[in-house]
Amino acid sequence: MMRTHTAGELRAGDIGTDVVVCGWVDARRDHGGVVFLDVRDHTGLTQVVVDPSTPAGADAHRLRAEYVVQVSGTVRGRPAGTVNPDLDTGEIEIGADALTVLNESEPLPFPLDTADAVDEIVRLRHRYLDLRRPRMQRNLRTRSKVNAAIRTSMVDQGFAEIETPMLIASTPEGARDFVVPSRQSPGSFYALPQSPQLFKQLLMVGGFDRYFQIARCLRDEDLRADRQFEFMQLDAEMSFAEQSDVLAAITEVIVSVVEAVTGDPPPPLRTMTWHEAQERYGSDKPDVRFGLELVDLGDVFAATEFKAFHAPAVKGICVPRGGDTSRSQLDALTDRAKSLGAAGLVWMRVREEGVLESPIAKFLSDAEQAATIAALGAGTGDLVLIVAGERRMANAVLGQLRLDLGRPPVGAGGLQFLWVVDFPLFETVGDDGRPVPAHHPFTMPHPDDVGLLSTASGDEFLALRSQAYDLVLNGWELGSGSVRIHRSDIQQQIFGLLGISADDAQERFGFLLDAFRFGAPPHAGFAFGIDRLVALLVEEENIREVIAFPKTQSGQDPLTGAPSPLDPTLLRDLGITLLPPKRP
Ligand code: ASP
Repeated sequence: MMRTHTAGELRAGDIGTDVVVCGWVDARRDHGGVVFLDVRDHTGLTQVVVDPSTPAGADAHRLRAEYVVQVSGTVRGRPAGTVNPDLDTGEIEIGADALTVLNESEPLPFPLDTADAVDEIVRLRHRYLDLRRPRMQRNLRTRSKVNAAIRTSMVDQGFAEIETPMLIASTPEGARDFVVPSRQSPGSFYALPQSPQLFKQLLMVGGFDRYFQIARCLRDEDLRADRQFEFMQLDAEMSFAEQSDVLAAITEVIVSVVEAVTGDPPPPLRTMTWHEAQERYGSDKPDVRFGLELVDLGDVFAATEFKAFHAPAVKGICVPRGGDTSRSQLDALTDRAKSLGAAGLVWMRVREEGVLESPIAKFLSDAEQAATIAALGAGTGDLVLIVAGERRMANAVLGQLRLDLGRPPVGAGGLQFLWVVDFPLFETVGDDGRPVPAHHPFTMPHPDDVGLLSTASGDEFLALRSQAYDLVLNGWELGSGSVRIHRSDIQQQIFGLLGISADDAQERFGFLLDAFRFGAPPHAGFAFGIDRLVALLVEEENIREVIAFPKTQSGQDPLTGAPSPLDPTLLRDLGITLLPPKRP
């Protein structure tokens, strides 16, 4: 047997037992003859004492950090006064009888205990070393638990796990595709899936009424703290199901995952409409761990003489104890508001009960000042910030200032999951008057708004609701889903509005539309990002910390050197000639 125990499991109850332990040399202390070793594996570390007069002693002096060793010996209690209460194995040590060097290690490019401070490129180039650290071990093992909990919950709920292909035609998720050239059809390309969206809908037509997959999705978008080119999502679809069925099934998975990782269920998942999220938080992914909510001051200033407040919307937030914000900080906040699209930012300090200090105070009546304070619930020492203008802009600007000023760090405030429902069907209206879909073009309109599809025009499109919903966690968008259109008349109507001609639609999604002609059941689905969920569960700001082999911000893999040029023969086989590189 190579080992009888891991390096983290021996306790006082094992004293007297003969054991064999394997691992890496975490530290070696030479105490004039006797050598102390800390032998480490992912479960922890154990102190080993090697007496130079024993056969084990011969090798002990040449050990270096990260040598791989096998130690056999007897567990004994540590001498009085040397017990280490900070270590799970701190009451015992192993008196070594034999020590075998299983492998040596060159000096490391960085000491493992300082890796957090090391340049990320260096960490990623030697990711296999970085992964030995407790932080990375914890993150990836938590991730494994999350995957297991997802699978168990989905299977228990009657979902079948089905894989869909990686080499496909394009999926309409709205991002840029990664493409793979076809050798057998030079000049033709596969797309890598942005999601299994179309295939899961085909599975519904195929009679798999509850499908799931822990799916790899690829989108060629600029990378950020919460975005990599490839990411994993729990992808699910249900037939004969409505929005409420999907929300219930996914809620059950989320509760199981959080229980599996933390031991406790999360606070109950709340639901909020998109409209309410915009009005109260200025965001479609509100971070509800803190207040600073947006307040509508339209009524307060309905008859004001202050011209700047004659606007479609006047909204404010109250920053508790923000009254001592300096003039230069207020100027910076104003610049920030302007860069986000506001014409300006009005600030007011509440000096004492009912008295406002503000460059615009003289333009406001006493009643308006009192009503502002009352509406925002502001008290002495607080700061009030107001934005006036077009409603979407005012909400978005204050929503961002709210985050800038109040957002707690990752890990604070618990796990606040929130379902945001009734998303708009369309995000914007293009210059050509055509609406642009907010989700993908297969999203079912809200039942109360279907009738309006044929009469709406211009900005009226923006008021139409869909049966699309997002799951938000602490201000991160975790996932989205929708009830799908399974009726070809509504689908044609949506394509028509989007300016996708019948021929176009047939060329891009003909296979799906054809399938829908053969008895497609009503269906709905959802997908959430596993990388983001795990990151928040282990309190990491960047999803790279929960991915074994991530890319850097610029899309490089410093470990393997990807992406890299292709061999000219391969290019020739693929029928590809390269243009000279673009000048930067
Ligand atoms: N396919 C969607 C996405 O990946 C999720 C869904 O609508 O089920 O965002």
